[in-house]
Parts: sequence; structure tokens; C-alpha cells
Amino acid sequence: MHVRKNDIVEVTCGDDAGITTKTPTIGKVLRVLPDNNKVVVEGINRVYRHMKPSRRNPQGGRLSKEMPVAAANVLLYCGTCRRGVRLGKRYTADGAKERFCKKCGSGLGLLSKPDPKYARK
Ligand SMILES: [Zn+2]
Repeated sequence: MHVRKNDIVEVTCGDDAGITTKTPTIGKVLRVLPDNNKVVVEGINRVYRHMKPSRRNPQGGRLSKEMPVAAANVLLYCGTCRRGVRLGKRYTADGAKERFCKKCGSGLGLLSKPDPKYARK
């Protein structure tokens, strides 16, 4: 998986994908489902479930819920490029593994703790 929980991603496909290219559809990853290669993104692919009044929910009404979207349809959002981008991985100077934006080269979060084995001298 190229995204993790709490990442900000751009959704590139589906009903909620950007209507204009100028404003990317972005949201926070709430859950990652590696088994079926899907992610749940806040505010994306929201469905409404109509509830009948019940003892637990005496009011009934509409319940909104995000459904998973295919991980292939989301890209990690780069704040510098202001859009979803492709990722690369590299080691930082102190040997931590880092994701970076292939477009502008800025770091997009660490994946591991610094490891002297990979540190640059
Ligand atoms: Zn970038």
C-alpha cells in the first residue's frame, strides 16, 4: 500500500473525483484495508443509510457513512505541488526511510526510524 492511515490523499476516480482539475478532491485516510486494496477516505464515497426508528436510535433518519475506495484511485497529496503525486522512497541523511514527491522532491513523511546502516557519512 502506498498510503497510510491519516495521510491526506487526492481521489482521482469515481463520483467524488475533482470536477475541475484546479481543485483536487482531497481527504484524510480514515482506514486502510490491505486485504482488498482499499482505503476509506473522509468525506469520499459517502453513502446514506436510511434508518427506521429503533430502540437504539429512536429518531431514525439518515446515517452517513464512507465506503472504501480502491487504493489505486488515490494519490498522496503533496502540499507543495497542491495535488496528488507519485511517490518515491529514499533514505534521509540520518538513515531513516522517507517518502518523497517525485515531482518536486519534497519529503512526505518518514516510514522508519533512523538507521545508522543507511545514514550518509
Ligand atoms: Zn510535490
